[in-house]
Amino acid sequence: MAAEVLSQSGLKVDLYDGMPSVGRKFLLAGVGGMNITHSEAYPAFVSRYAERAPMVAPLLRGFGAQALCEWIHGLGINTFVGSSGRVFPSDMKAAPLLRAWLKRLRDAGVVIHTRHRWLGWNADNSLRIASPEGELSIAPAATLLALGGASWARLGSDGAWLPVLEQCGVGVAPLQAANCGFEVSAWSELLRSKFAGAPLKNVAMGLPGHTLRLGECVLTQTGVEGSLVYALSAQIREAINQSGAACVEIDLLPGKSLADVQKALGKPRGSRSMSKHLHSQLGIDGVKAALLRELAPNGAFADPQLLGRAVKCLPLILIKPRPIDEAISTAGGVKFEAMDPRLMLKALPGVFCAGEMLDWEAPTGGYLLTACFASGRTAGLGMVDWLRGRLEQTP
Ligand SMILES: Cc1cc2nc3c(=O)[nH]c(=O)nc-3n(C[C@H](O)[C@H](O)[C@H](O)COP(=O)(O)OP(=O)(O)OC[C@H]3O[C@@H](n4cnc5c(N)ncnc54)[C@H](O)[C@@H]3O)c2cc1C
Repeated sequence: MAAEVLSQSGLKVDLYDGMPSVGRKFLLAGVGGMNITHSEAYPAFVSRYAERAPMVAPLLRGFGAQALCEWIHGLGINTFVGSSGRVFPSDMKAAPLLRAWLKRLRDAGVVIHTRHRWLGWNADNSLRIASPEGELSIAPAATLLALGGASWARLGSDGAWLPVLEQCGVGVAPLQAANCGFEVSAWSELLRSKFAGAPLKNVAMGLPGHTLRLGECVLTQTGVEGSLVYALSAQIREAINQSGAACVEIDLLPGKSLADVQKALGKPRGSRSMSKHLHSQLGIDGVKAALLRELAPNGAFADPQLLGRAVKCLPLILIKPRPIDEAISTAGGVKFEAMDPRLMLKALPGVFCAGEMLDWEAPTGGYLLTACFASGRTAGLGMVDWLRGRLEQTP
């Protein structure tokens, strides 16, 4: 995005990427259906960035969801709004969009150098770039770093930039997994062998004292993952950071009240087992029944009142996030206080930052890419502004 703004302003742009091709994570995001942005109204949209909403808002004001859709249409790709309000390119894919975008950049004179890895700065402030021909020293008029977070390192973003910037006096927050799965201390052998991979559908989940969210997730060998868990991942991660573990509550039947559940379970069951009773009265079987067995308090299967409470509020203790490399995105990165409103680093004039490497996070739903696009554009415009200012100062 920055390269586009800069080249449109008549500036010469060289783009370096450590990988053999650019946009690998962007392409991966297209594999499961590229959710590029969201159609909800702006106040709800910006609230997805939680505590960082005030910092992300100016970026979105410059280039928000609507502007992003128009930009995609300008590349000859249509978009549609899914039933959840999420916005997708019409074929759900990232590759046609990336192809059209790269062509436009190349046509505008942007030179793309792949297999060129930025290592930091030389003593004379030139950039150190490792290339197949050896290390290069490059001295641009201005630099933009858009090096991503630290998940899926094999696609290029490994977070190796963080200590380099830290050593230069740039304020950075540690990179942490976001939109990620979490681990329990140990599932029983039965749950792991029979139900790892099973989807837990139509449930609600949340931290105590918070409204539970409806959705679905998946039991894994080590814990839980999936969209409902990702949506809660910032809260769960912070609870673990503070207390060493997070207790989430699961409502296995969000469509029924506690009283209805307890009434159903209190009906005479004759010689039927409680498991059969659960199934016939409430339709609970399979993975939901197994999870209930795993997590309900002792004695619950002999006490309909207690079991009813467990159905409606099953406590699940999560002890750690899955490794950062598996996460959809990362939290942490370059602090907003370390940059001016143009996204230029205060400690390194002429060096700008954009994308996931900035210290914001958001749930899935298109909010990640939208903020990446918006910050890239802001930084590009900021670079034009800064370069013009320098030209004007030159006698
Ligand atoms: C499985 C998956 C699905 C996703 N789906 C969606 C989705 O549907 N919607 C959504 O909004 N978001 C989605 N995301 C998140 C989204 O893809 C990222 O937030 C976004 O790609 C980040 O963009 P970025 O340009 O900041 O970083 P990246 O896309 O990570 O790009 C950073 C680039 O910098 C290069 N680089 C890193 N270090 C160096 C270095 N030292 N020298 C040279 N080059 C370097 C890398 O090779 C890479 O090309 C998904 C992520 C994953 C993992």
